[in-house]
Amino acid sequence: MECQLCQHHAKEDKYLCRKCENTLREQLSDIPSLQQESKGFLVPSRTGTGSRNSERSLGFNVAAMDYSTAVETLPILHKYEALIRRGRNLTPPALLKREPSIEAEVAATTQFHITHLGWTLQQDWSGEFEGS
Ligand SMILES: [Zn+2]
Repeated sequence: MECQLCQHHAKEDKYLCRKCENTLREQLSDIPSLQQESKGFLVPSRTGTGSRNSERSLGFNVAAMDYSTAVETLPILHKYEALIRRGRNLTPPALLKREPSIEAEVAATTQFHITHLGWTLQQDWSGEFEGS
């Protein structure tokens, strides 16, 4: 099969080659730390001079955008986690203990996706997942 991203040869009936699979795995594992970092920027610094220079407000805006992206990513990750759980006969999401915070939810679901990525990439809906 051909890799859906770079047209290289993809093994084991996967939709991505090993290289693109590794990239995707790294991107997934970056999501929780990206979210943590951007959240930090949302809290105004108390140690600063208090001056609102343009550089800081730019950082604030960009970070806020990243944070909302991470928050918007969560329902998508949860949607596919539910698909994977159904497909693999795992505990359905409704029966799982809820994580205490958004951060913990993001960490838990990204870890789930990393663990099951090899299987996910063999599913015919995985192209949709990568594009999201
Ligand atoms: Zn590839």
